[in-house]
Amino acid sequence: MWEAQKAEVLEVARKMEEKGLVLGTSGNVSQRCKEREGRELVAITPSGRHYDTMKVEDIVLVDMEGNRVEGELAPSVETMLHIGIYRARKKVGAVVHTHAVYGSAIAVAGKEIPPLLDDQITYLGGEVKVAAYALPGSPELARNAVAALGPRNAVVLANHGTLAVGRNLREALNNCELLEKTAKVYILAMVLGSVTAVPPDMAELEKVFFAGLFGDG
Ligand SMILES: [Zn+2]
Repeated sequence: MWEAQKAEVLEVARKMEEKGLVLGTSGNVSQRCKEREGRELVAITPSGRHYDTMKVEDIVLVDMEGNRVEGELAPSVETMLHIGIYRARKKVGAVVHTHAVYGSAIAVAGKEIPPLLDDQITYLGGEVKVAAYALPGSPELARNAVAALGPRNAVVLANHGTLAVGRNLREALNNCELLEKTAKVYILAMVLGSVTAVPPDMAELEKVFFAGLFGDG
């Protein structure tokens, strides 16, 4: 079941690799699948598989406790990270986790990205926080990521990588790319020796626009 949703997850996972946001089998992609009776499932990439040879049937369906409902392969080791976000953010329909280079530099520097660009605020929700370090696949990583993500659409995982969410897969992938661009711009501006954030009153206006689109309230 959910074949179309699984195919979309595979398509976005391949794009994530083609765009250079991950190397090898790293990163993971999922989307929320809502059944008519109200039960929710998550279609997620399998653990440790290359994207170019991955098939639609390799995408795993899990329930909201992380139990495998359909599929032969083990789901991503970061399944509980994805589920933690779906539980906390009702409007989030898709999650993409990457190991992109500039975002990873921010993850190593441990520096929150201030609201630097208009598109960063209107699509990602403003500043990008760094989630405290925890081992990959651990419940702590899921907790730390959910806390640092807050109501926004992107977060950096300390010494690990990046994660972005969206109402659908296309949006989540776009947000990953926007986060990577923002991280690159921040680093380049620091190299130039001057970083000026969006004026705070304008940033607040843009955050109101963002909350209207993505707010869970
Ligand atoms: Zn990772």
